[in-house]
Amino acid sequence: MSFDRSRLPDPRTYYEGQGLALSKGKKWVTTSCVFHGGSDSMRINLDSGAFSCMAGCGASGGDVLGYHRALHQDDFVSACKSLGCWIEDGKTPTKPPRPTPLPARDALEILAFESLLVAGTASSIGEGYQLTEQDKQRLLIACGRIQQIHGTFL
Ligand SMILES: [Zn+2]
Repeated sequence: MSFDRSRLPDPRTYYEGQGLALSKGKKWVTTSCVFHGGSDSMRINLDSGAFSCMAGCGASGGDVLGYHRALHQDDFVSACKSLGCWIEDGKTPTKPPRPTPLPARDALEILAFESLLVAGTASSIGEGYQLTEQDKQRLLIACGRIQQIHGTFL
């Protein structure tokens, strides 16, 4: 039984999978610090997975395993297991569970809401209303959400 570092998830995939929005950047990116609630103080190295909070809350570590342990207050072996990088007796470890998909009810509510928004906007245009930049951005967001739901349930 041992830890297999090569099976650690890719840092970008892992951190995005934790619901973090990463800033643009190839190597170093910024995101929110969930440890103290800072909106943009966490710096992450996408090569190594290292993380460090610039606000000085003390959250820092060398890889996604360190992050996972800090987040879940897991011991080393449990964290390795949940990240799928713990080999038991030479067997292939089980993959970490897929993130819970969006519940169908929530998806339907989003679709209902966004369709109303689109219909409302269309009817405003029909009445001669000029869309603002904000309106257009909001429509793109609506489109993105619908596409995302489509992708989720496809
Ligand atoms: Zn912090």
